[in-house]
Amino acid sequence: MEAMGKSPLWLTFVAAMVMAEALLRLRSGRGYDRGTALTSFGLILGGVPFAAFNGLVIAAIYSSLWSVAPVHLPLDDWRTWVAGFLLVELAYYWFHRASHRVRWLWASHSVHHSAEQLTLLSSFRLGWTSLLSAGWLFYAPLVLVGFDPRLVVGLLVFNLRFQTFLHTELIGQLGPLEWVFNTPAHHRLHHACNAPYIDRNYGGVLIIYDRLFGTLATECADEPVRYGLAHRMPTANPLTIAFREWRIMASEILAKRGRGLGRTLFGAP
Ligand SMILES: [Zn+2]
Ligand SMILES: [Zn+2]
Repeated sequence: MEAMGKSPLWLTFVAAMVMAEALLRLRSGRGYDRGTALTSFGLILGGVPFAAFNGLVIAAIYSSLWSVAPVHLPLDDWRTWVAGFLLVELAYYWFHRASHRVRWLWASHSVHHSAEQLTLLSSFRLGWTSLLSAGWLFYAPLVLVGFDPRLVVGLLVFNLRFQTFLHTELIGQLGPLEWVFNTPAHHRLHHACNAPYIDRNYGGVLIIYDRLFGTLATECADEPVRYGLAHRMPTANPLTIAFREWRIMASEILAKRGRGLGRTLFGAP
């Protein structure tokens, strides 16, 4: 799915914003960690073939679901788009929450949380194994109840592109926008590895589902946000990051000789 969001215009715009952020960070004395940036580049480049393959397979799955969907909601009706947007956001919320609570999904999503400096560039650290983790299952019911896969994927691409700009320390609180929308302040907290902030602020474009399901948190002045993965040593090797959680699960299965398999694969990380 991620592969479908890479148009030349978008890439040029993002590259300009990444460079502008780096300059602003350096000028403001925040620094720009070269090692973190290089690792992000490695994860982005290494992820290209995976994203292309994952995108093709997921597109094929969605189009076969679409062919058996009993109703096809009209794309030229604004109500389809409003309902689609709210439901894609809801599906994203639960996909993202599950990605933090179930090891099988966390194995892919942990890649996104691996950077210890939060920048626009680090937002593109995306798991290579998303097809295997099967997060796409969360959107499948929408196709089955009549939402065109082009609408679902289009809204998901919008969701992910919107979230790119949440990964920065250069934007503070945004007033009343914080009530409804996911903002850099909300998402910085989501990337924190400090204990009080873990498993909070799962929203994509909207923050309303976090309010509704009780997972919203805001930063406390006496607990500044630290980024990265709790309980994991930082590493600069993109290959290690992309497959680390799978490797840890595999060695646990071997060590326990398959006992407690369900818990090892689908328990909390
Ligand atoms: Zn997350
Ligand atoms: Zn993020």
